[in-house]
Amino acid sequence: MKKELDPKQVKAIQEKLKNMSPDELKKLVKQQCLFCQISSGKVESRKVYEDDELLAILDINPASKGHTLVLPKEHYQILAQIPDDLASKLFNVTNKLAVILFDVVKAEGTNIFIANGQVAGQKSPHTVIHIIPRYEGDGVGLAWEPKKGDEKGLDELQELIKDKTIQLYVKKEQPKVVEKQIAEEEEYVEERLP
Ligand SMILES: [Zn+2]
Repeated sequence: MKKELDPKQVKAIQEKLKNMSPDELKKLVKQQCLFCQISSGKVESRKVYEDDELLAILDINPASKGHTLVLPKEHYQILAQIPDDLASKLFNVTNKLAVILFDVVKAEGTNIFIANGQVAGQKSPHTVIHIIPRYEGDGVGLAWEPKKGDEKGLDELQELIKDKTIQLYVKKEQPKVVEKQIAEEEEYVEERLP
């Protein structure tokens, strides 16, 4: 929830954030981050899995019965920042939990969903994977309207993406994480500072 601040207060906070080192900012983000507070046990949660690196909890505002969140305990704002090993483990645990959910809540299907960035619906700057069990006629709104793609546009896009995957997997050049998404972390802190 956004608190109402007068422009003077907003300016003071922005100044304060600007003068912070990346480490100081990260510490502040962690203090303000709901999922960091859940990971450290400062905020209670309904845990269904925990190891030294990962946590899975029931969503207290579920889209459907059994809606589960899987997250790294360490603070990573977006998926792209998570090291490959941890990302693999995150996905493996998610996959196994989805199998368990099929059994326990008698799901008929699941959506595995990640919101990367505010524009994609990310509410908190901590990477979370949603496992949303699906049931016939549940009305969960995750569908989109397919639009006919134009052939020329698809051709161009195919080439552009292929060039990048060749760079990554043949030439071993890592793709750059988009800085714009990282910047959202400051906004999140700004909205929550007293
Ligand atoms: Zn966090």
